[in-house]
Amino acid sequence: MAATLIDGKAFAAKVRGQVAEHVARLKEENGITPGLAVVLVGEDPASQVYVRSKGKQTVEVGMNSVEHKLDADTSEADLLAVVEQLNNDPSIHGILVQLPLPKHMNEDLVINSIAPEKDVDGFHISNVGLLGTGQKSMVPCTPLGCLMMLRDHHGSLSGMDAVVIGRSNIVGKPMAQLLLGDSCTVTIAHSRTKDLPDVVRRADIVVAAVGRPEMVPGDWIKEGATVIDVGINRIERDGKTKLVGDVDFASAAERAGAITPVPGGVGPMTIACLLANTVTACCRANGLKEPEGLTA
Ligand code: NDP
Repeated sequence: MAATLIDGKAFAAKVRGQVAEHVARLKEENGITPGLAVVLVGEDPASQVYVRSKGKQTVEVGMNSVEHKLDADTSEADLLAVVEQLNNDPSIHGILVQLPLPKHMNEDLVINSIAPEKDVDGFHISNVGLLGTGQKSMVPCTPLGCLMMLRDHHGSLSGMDAVVIGRSNIVGKPMAQLLLGDSCTVTIAHSRTKDLPDVVRRADIVVAAVGRPEMVPGDWIKEGATVIDVGINRIERDGKTKLVGDVDFASAAERAGAITPVPGGVGPMTIACLLANTVTACCRANGLKEPEGLTA
């Protein structure tokens, strides 16, 4: 393997350490404890795992964690009432409604009912608009984690050619906005892109957020490029279930200058950035200086 491994697990631990330090300072100097509320509707097993993990890590960095678990047949009106109550609760600085929601609910309506300044997932339409116009916003956690790792590795990203594969609202589009904000020349590729290999071969930075196991082979990667693999795909190999990314790690690592593994790359950064966003939201709510290096 020629590439430098970008260790997301270690980086996430560092971010959590910075968050914990800031939380301790907020308590000591201002008597404030940041609070994160997570709302889970229904029994989706993957969502339950995420919510448990978020709650545990929130407590570990010294913040208050509040969980609202609602039955799958909860009405949309009742969910909106819970969000409204959290919007009005001054001890809560971040609100996250775990997606996906049951089919009878309108996800856009629910997300847009969260107070934008408490929207630590960065999915509220106001935050999307603020990010798109280069203003201070809450930034979606997964792309924020990718940006932090890229900045840490490269210092400045200015003038680099970046290709983001995937145009979802939660990863691809905000990722492209963040890279543009750091003065990259950005291409967003998707399922209709013509000659994707050629597009990817031009990139100094490749962010793959597709959801197709190992679809980006090493020979698409420009020599020395930095590869950020957002994909999380479960496959069966040699009779075992394995997690792989959207990039064929073995061949890409032969050509890339740096690469994130799956697991242990982008994944751990997502919750770390959720905690970072919560402490940022808490500082903004109280008119205090934001922690450096934890926002875009
Ligand atoms: P979506 O399914 O919402 O979006 C996938 C994107 O990939 C779409 O824009 C789609 O294009 C594009 N695409 C699909 N097939 C191709 C193809 N053959 N060539 C080029 N582009 C293609 O996925 P998400 O953005 O939500 O997630 C992407 C991946 O990231 C998933 O594996 C997911 O599990 C993972 N993920 C990981 C997170 C983490 O914490 N590490 C967090 C969030 C997601 P089109 O729009 O044209 O259909």
